[in-house]
Amino acid sequence: MLAAARSERLKDVTERVALTRRLVARYVAGASESDVIRVAGDLVGDGFTVSIDRLGEHTRDLGQAMRVADTYVSVLDELHRAELSARVEVSVKLSAIGQAFHGDGDRVALDHARRICHAARNAGTTVTVDMEDHTTTDSTLNILRELRLDFPETGAVLQAYLRRTEGDCRDLAHAGSRVRLCKGAYDEPPSVAFMRKADVDRSYVRCAKILLSGPGYPMLATHDPRLVEITGALASKYHRLQGSYEYQMLYGVRPEEQRRLVRAGEEVRVYVPYGEDWYGYLVRRLAERPANLSLFLRSVASKR
Ligand SMILES: Cc1cc2nc3c(=O)[nH]c(=O)nc-3n(C[C@H](O)[C@H](O)[C@H](O)COP(=O)(O)OP(=O)(O)OC[C@H]3O[C@@H](n4cnc5c(N)ncnc54)[C@H](O)[C@@H]3O)c2cc1C
Repeated sequence: MLAAARSERLKDVTERVALTRRLVARYVAGASESDVIRVAGDLVGDGFTVSIDRLGEHTRDLGQAMRVADTYVSVLDELHRAELSARVEVSVKLSAIGQAFHGDGDRVALDHARRICHAARNAGTTVTVDMEDHTTTDSTLNILRELRLDFPETGAVLQAYLRRTEGDCRDLAHAGSRVRLCKGAYDEPPSVAFMRKADVDRSYVRCAKILLSGPGYPMLATHDPRLVEITGALASKYHRLQGSYEYQMLYGVRPEEQRRLVRAGEEVRVYVPYGEDWYGYLVRRLAERPANLSLFLRSVASKR
């Protein structure tokens, strides 16, 4: 499935079929800015906070990187106008704003990220920098370090499946530091990542301990029932008040559990993707949920 996420041929076939509109609609807010603002407004009305992700990664064209950054600035202005920015931030993939360019990708991505952070600051909200595959981890953390000089509120993401992540948690678990901890969504080699679910889960718990026992602001991104429970127990153990950390889950994944946590008084942020470029995102979500896979494959096969 993760190879399919990178396959141009399968992407073409999939995008041409009306596919499973139900599946796309379950995980993606819609194609347009107005779609995502409407969904974010509804979620805020239901007691959630939100992080908006403009779908698209691996931009190889300067104009496209600029347009993606412009889109973020526009969404942030719109959130401000709609009086949602106190509860809604944005998540940005650096590869969508130039990081993947040969030569000066880091500088291009940093310039665009600064512009987005500036717009977020003006709107009264924040940016979290998503983490992508392990070949980009050092570059992403370096760019984050630069960004935080001017925008210390910028969120980081660390992936528990990487062997290095405990160390990165220690580096980033300082006062004022917002860190999202997730398992990790890419197809990584055993030299850098734990392969077995049990090892990834154990790493997640070790990392959560570091973040929750430190003075920063941990953002615990998982749908795993066991990890949600363990996280809650750790938060109590380290005398964390509700609101001094948050849970994060993806739009469309375990919505009942999201509501349950809100009812229990927890801060829950829903990560809401939108945009035309939903293919890679959808396939990664399907890889995590084999039950949805047969529906997806039947739909593609029947329309070829
Ligand atoms: C807010 C947020 C932001 C993220 N940001 C990043 C990022 O920047 N970089 C990155 O690499 N990864 C990111 N991820 C993805 C993450 O790394 C995992 O791939 C993903 O969350 C699945 O792991 P899990 O912890 O939910 O556990 P899993 O073990 O995958 O799932 C646990 C349970 O959750 C339910 N579930 C999981 N997926 C689905 C689904 N698609 N549909 C229905 N139910 C499902 C099932 O009940 C499953 O048993 C993010 C995840 C979240 C929640």
